[in-house]
Amino acid sequence: MNKFEQLGLNPSILKAVEDMGFESPSEVQEKAIPILLQDDTDMVALAQTGTGKTAAFGFPLIQKINADARHTQALILSPTRELCLQITNEIKNYSKYEKSINPVAIYGGASITDQARQIERGAQIIVATPGRMQDMINRKLVDISRIEYCVLDEADEMLNMGFFEDITAILSHTPKEKNTWLFSATMPKEVATIAKKFMRSPVEITVGTKNMGATNVSHEYYLINSRDRYAALKRLADANPDIFSVIFCRTKRDTQKVAERLIEDGYSAAALHGDLSQNQRDLVMKSFRSRQIQMLVATDVAARGIDVDDITHVINYQLPDEIETYTHRSGRTGRAGKSGVSMVIISKSELRKIKSIERIIGQSFEQKDIPDGMEICRV
Ligand code: ADP
Ligand code: MG
Repeated sequence: MNKFEQLGLNPSILKAVEDMGFESPSEVQEKAIPILLQDDTDMVALAQTGTGKTAAFGFPLIQKINADARHTQALILSPTRELCLQITNEIKNYSKYEKSINPVAIYGGASITDQARQIERGAQIIVATPGRMQDMINRKLVDISRIEYCVLDEADEMLNMGFFEDITAILSHTPKEKNTWLFSATMPKEVATIAKKFMRSPVEITVGTKNMGATNVSHEYYLINSRDRYAALKRLADANPDIFSVIFCRTKRDTQKVAERLIEDGYSAAALHGDLSQNQRDLVMKSFRSRQIQMLVATDVAARGIDVDDITHVINYQLPDEIETYTHRSGRTGRAGKSGVSMVIISKSELRKIKSIERIIGQSFEQKDIPDGMEICRV
């Protein structure tokens, strides 16, 4: 009996797990799944990015809902459209041997009537961003009065993005008698407030810093003069011809500019940020996932939670304003036991930030030189 079987999962899920190639449950899965399967309880689960939280709530959810009924039984709230699509796909994967389970993704920037139609066809599980969900409730396009499970995924991110009021309003449309499962990487005050307000004696689970990937991520910084930032990026790309990377910029404008310059200079790159239409964003993600694009230049918001396999390098073209965001960025690589590198291109004036990051991640950086062959002034 493998470890997944010991968790109490049914044969169809176990078969899907085998297809996905998961050999043993991650720590958060091991702790959360048996409890969520057996008990009707609320739960607060804290685990870092990349530790397999989606399956930790996804497996119990598909096992517990009634696949023969068509009404909406579960609502998963998640911060971004990309994450909604990703979670929906994962749930489809997990339930591929239970054909009658139908998860639907609800997010802004796409046709609300199309989404309403999909719900009408019977969506036992709705995966939604808070903004669009609230919109659909206001227009009476969705009925969540009979849900039994509500998952708040990446709760810290949702609250960071200012969704407190939307979440509160949405939850007020759900029945009192339900179970709420909150998953988060961190537990800031706002998350505690939500938990206190909407949950009843939740079981609390915290997993250590053991990440499916983070221990395999090495951290490097490259000290440059500010004006050489772009040249440094090109050198790093040249030195790593097989690079498959997310490059983080601070603003939408910089993101667009860096991507355009890379494309002009003959690199395989694309921009991902909030000023693109949903259609454009979907296309970019599709080409990135299928490796048609090697370098995805993105803002933090657009790249939040994106889980693309085998990203070799995360490049911090600029450091984020909030140092905590660095963890989310570097968590894009080194997923599921693979190794990865998180690089920071940094000027002297920002150097002190490296120390703060080292404290937060509990790992130290290696200072490296920009690879040779370039017109960069070393500092
Ligand atoms: P989180 O939500 O905690 O950031 P995800 O649920 O997105 O993490 O999972 C991160 C990656 O790990 C995904 O690629 C997922 O397929 C993979 N994964 C999840 N559980 C396992 C497991 N038990 N064994 C191997 N890989 C796993
Ligand atoms: Mg997640």
